Amino acid sequence: MGFVEDELQEIKAMVEKHITGSKLEACIPAMVRVNIRRTKFKQLIVCLQFPKNYPAANILVELKSRHISQKLLDGLANLSEKEAKKILGKPQILHVLKFVRNFIDENPLCCCSEEISELKQKIARPSDEIKLKQKTSSILVITMEGEYSCKYNITVPEDYPDTRVSLTEVSSSYPPVVRRWLLAQAQELARQCVEPPTRCRPGAPPFVVKPSLLPVVKFLLEAVHSIPAAVCGVCCRTCLPPHPQDVPSSEDDPLSVERVYCGHFYHHACLDTYIKTPPFAGGKTCHSCSLKIYHDKWKLSPALVEARWAHKQARQRELDEAIDFFA
Ligand SMILES: [Zn+2]
Ligand SMILES: [Zn+2]
Repeated sequence: MGFVEDELQEIKAMVEKHITGSKLEACIPAMVRVNIRRTKFKQLIVCLQFPKNYPAANILVELKSRHISQKLLDGLANLSEKEAKKILGKPQILHVLKFVRNFIDENPLCCCSEEISELKQKIARPSDEIKLKQKTSSILVITMEGEYSCKYNITVPEDYPDTRVSLTEVSSSYPPVVRRWLLAQAQELARQCVEPPTRCRPGAPPFVVKPSLLPVVKFLLEAVHSIPAAVCGVCCRTCLPPHPQDVPSSEDDPLSVERVYCGHFYHHACLDTYIKTPPFAGGKTCHSCSLKIYHDKWKLSPALVEARWAHKQARQRELDEAIDFFA
């Protein structure tokens, strides 16, 4: 038998035993095709073709995948051919397949390569840093706006995207109110990617799991870049001081920042005065978006606020009358 036939026999006998998660789909002189799967998104098809003067020339490699970006696949195919060139004159297919499988194992972030390239090319600003840490299957996002900066660590689980990304704050110069909101909102966005809503609209298409990395990082970057410019709905000045070291240490400081339910920001004192002074009819609405204002610290019904206002006014009148009397 010829060299190629011998190698094909060897491949038929050995591939599925020696390459974890592999399935031999074609094994003929015209082409060898192997599906290598670690998880649903860490899966690719390796197509190998013998050149005319094989094995003096390297085997030709083509890679296909539904979830791994074409740019990464092209790069990996290139590297695979270079690997084959190291053993010219010998059977090369098993060597190449082992190389590809090894690459998937050592680069767990390949399952979100499409999202990472979109992030880097379309969403991140020049000052944003997105560092890949393949060893821990995580991504470090470092972003700054003015004097404010944030660093988040985002972990991509093995069975991504079926399981959502998880995130931790490494550091942040924003006040605690903002930091808590950023984390909670990012986690909620990730959750919505993998869990169906509790109440489905009738006629809505069935829920499908979506990759959660891109929505989470996109939200974080956009929020971090926009918050320093956010203005108080009442006084129209920026809610945060230009320098993080000037952020009030107490959350009840008049100038500390408050975030209402709709997502807009106010100074603590501005919001307090706005909620507690008339007009009360119809409840208080956000100056920025007209949605009803809701905040944990001000859980007052319009009737109660109005009663308190009236009471305060009455006391003030009594006080004024007393002052007039003694004047
Ligand atoms: Zn204000
Ligand atoms: Zn609003």
